[in-house]
Amino acid sequence: PLVLGIETSCDETGVGVVRGRTLLADAIASSVDEHARFGGVVPEIASRAHLEAMIPTIDRALAEAGVRPRDLDGVAVTAGPGLAGALLVGVTAAKAYAYALGKPVYGVNHLASHICVDQLEHGELPEPTMALLVSGGHSSLLLAPDITTDVRPLGSTIDDAAGEAFDKVARVLQLGFPGGPVIDRYAREGDPAAIAFPRGLSGPRDAPYDFSFSGLKTAVARWVEAARAEGERVPVADVAASFQEAVTDVLTRKAVRACRDEGVDHLMIGGGVAANSRLRAMAEKRCAEAGITLRVPRPKLCTDNGAMVAALGAEMVARGRSASDWGLPADSSLPVTEPHVPASPARP
Ligand code: ATP
Ligand code: MG
Ligand code: FE
Repeated sequence: PLVLGIETSCDETGVGVVRGRTLLADAIASSVDEHARFGGVVPEIASRAHLEAMIPTIDRALAEAGVRPRDLDGVAVTAGPGLAGALLVGVTAAKAYAYALGKPVYGVNHLASHICVDQLEHGELPEPTMALLVSGGHSSLLLAPDITTDVRPLGSTIDDAAGEAFDKVARVLQLGFPGGPVIDRYAREGDPAAIAFPRGLSGPRDAPYDFSFSGLKTAVARWVEAARAEGERVPVADVAASFQEAVTDVLTRKAVRACRDEGVDHLMIGGGVAANSRLRAMAEKRCAEAGITLRVPRPKLCTDNGAMVAALGAEMVARGRSASDWGLPADSSLPVTEPHVPASPARP
């Protein structure tokens, strides 16, 4: 199936086009620069930016893919979770566009899309799929017997998401926003063993698949404050590398353990933090040691984009899942257990 996907859950206006599991176009417009001086995404600014970028980004994706709108089999859109106002722009645009073309619209889950996107890179996902989803708003271990209908959380963060920790530590180190990519860069010059930061929820009695990054973030902030109070120069690269090591150590250890416990021989890592170079390298090594096949999409497909939405939409069409109805709402807290938002049952 030929599907156009629209993503507007946060600060990226993404429009992708896929044919089955083949990526044809991945157009993106980001308002990240407009949020930088606030140190985080400002919802009102994001919504307005989506509104301005929506139609040009759709046009760009179609041109890049070289397809005619009338040849599309459907339009997929992120229905949630995400920022309510931002989601609303994408959902409204998708419904209007699909309706005008006489095509079905598929409201899909942003988190399931972060997993499904790997099909564009490495082909069909095995079933069940074990996924470590790590992004700005989420950190979870998910087991998906069917990515279009059945996604089960094994565990998740009890406080901050992994990406949120990267962003907060970057702020403490005065490195700007978003923090993930810049910490990744600084860490390359640093010593990951320089400072022993805590590994949250790693004790024998802790929940095996849950994560906690808020204690780590506080430990880093305290360490940096103490160094500054002593009038010392903060060794930014060492702090970045040691922090990053603590995050990736826990994520990869728990993910490998989940695969082993569930008898799954592969691991998919998705979400913005999956773009992290140290996470990718450590996962590579630990999965190899455990006989697990690792699947991580290229960095551009890990962070928010429209192609991931199109990928999940195409899977919905291919598997004959029902389209959404024209009342499809944006749902800022759509649960991860609902990969798509099917037509609501007819009211009597
Ligand atoms: P969610 O999917 O939970 O709604 P999101 O939509 O905010 O999150 P994503 O693009 O999925 O956005 O992830 C963004 C997060 O990924 C940010 O916190 C960012 O700092 C982090 N990130 C991006 N690149 C890297 C990197 N190289 N290393 C670590 N973190 C990174
Ligand atoms: Mg973003
Ligand atoms: Fe995301």
